[in-house]
Amino acid sequence: MVIKPKIRGFICTNAHPVGCAENVSRQIDYIKQQPKPDNGPKNVLVVGCSTGYGLASRITSAFGCGAHTLGVCFEREPTAKRTGTAGWYNTAAFHQAAENAGLAFHSINGDAFSDEIKAESIEYIREHMGKIDLVIYSLASPKRKDPESDTVYSSTLKPVGETYTTKTYDTDKDLVHEVTLAPANEEEIANTVKVMGGEDWERWIKALHDAGVLADNCQTTAYTYIGKKLTWPIYGHATIGRAKEDLDRAARALNSQYADINLSAYVSSLKALVTQASSAIPVMPLYISLIYKVMKEEGTHEGCIEQIYRLFTEGLYADNPSLDEANRLRMDGKETNDATQAKIEALWEQVTQDNFHQLSDYQQYHADFLHLFGFGFDNVDYDADVDPEVSW
Ligand code: NAD
Repeated sequence: MVIKPKIRGFICTNAHPVGCAENVSRQIDYIKQQPKPDNGPKNVLVVGCSTGYGLASRITSAFGCGAHTLGVCFEREPTAKRTGTAGWYNTAAFHQAAENAGLAFHSINGDAFSDEIKAESIEYIREHMGKIDLVIYSLASPKRKDPESDTVYSSTLKPVGETYTTKTYDTDKDLVHEVTLAPANEEEIANTVKVMGGEDWERWIKALHDAGVLADNCQTTAYTYIGKKLTWPIYGHATIGRAKEDLDRAARALNSQYADINLSAYVSSLKALVTQASSAIPVMPLYISLIYKVMKEEGTHEGCIEQIYRLFTEGLYADNPSLDEANRLRMDGKETNDATQAKIEALWEQVTQDNFHQLSDYQQYHADFLHLFGFGFDNVDYDADVDPEVSW
């Protein structure tokens, strides 16, 4: 099959196995070139391991620290006629590279919100890993089936309190335009918290703790985006921000509930980057295209792998990591500092349909977007016939 990108709106509906392997391999190469984190983890569970920040966390654990990794993801398997999802191919490529490097690994494809997948993970840990010393919680999902009630909750991306009008960029139509977003009602806020808040993170830690598979001094982190003024109305202070506030509540609860094993639970705040999750959020493609421009000029641009490597070396495995007032690990300072934000705000004021491509680095945004699905790598032959049926 010759595989070319099929882009529909903010998503690409197919993926290229060779290109996805290239994406994984570049991240592994980056990690191998860095000094090893001190006292890194040995047995790591990554919930949401196949793309974005979770994939980078798995690569850093395995290739940076030599850890045995168990990854959980929810990805579509390929058929002879239809490609798998990027996360499927990324996981296959990770397995191949880990095997070549003599690293231990296992992945489970299924709904991480369910009790069955938690039980399957615990069974694997018991039989093959012993105890886990790091749990990364990196799920991004539009819906969640609550295993207690079987109710399916859907998240919404809406402001809270009042209608918000702002600029956005439609990647499909190459159009900068105004968008007006109506505020969420209470039910929509509560449902978003149900999906993206801390409840499932707590269920994972409880299940692992009850099964006796968490090591003493185990660490766990869930990822958040805090951002600043430009993104607050649609992120930090919006429905998704409410869900992320619930992660702070969950981290506090976990720290006090599992003091018996001296568990350290952190929320880690990461920078805005192009991932499958962020490209779905209104305003983000415009904001990210502008910060790429500013941060590349400042020499501070980072991708998922650079962010997560710093999270390990300056946060999770640092002697005295700096924490913010809510006990969070902050890896987003290069984006959210006042000087950088002032430059982005100035561009934001000026940007129009006519000057968008001069003021922003949409080229980089688009390149990164294509890379997510294994497209746009100059060393991959996209005219070649490839077998989509890659298994793992
Ligand atoms: P992503 O879409 O790249 O990855 C999501 C992962 O979750 C994938 O591995 C997917 O398979 C898995 N997943 C989704 N639903 C699942 C389910 N039901 N069961 C099992 N696995 C499931 O997302 P991302 O951008 O890397 O986001 C990960 C976390 O990082 C999120 O909490 C997000 O809010 C946070 N974050 C993202 C950004 C950003 O700009 N992308 C910035 C800061 C923080």
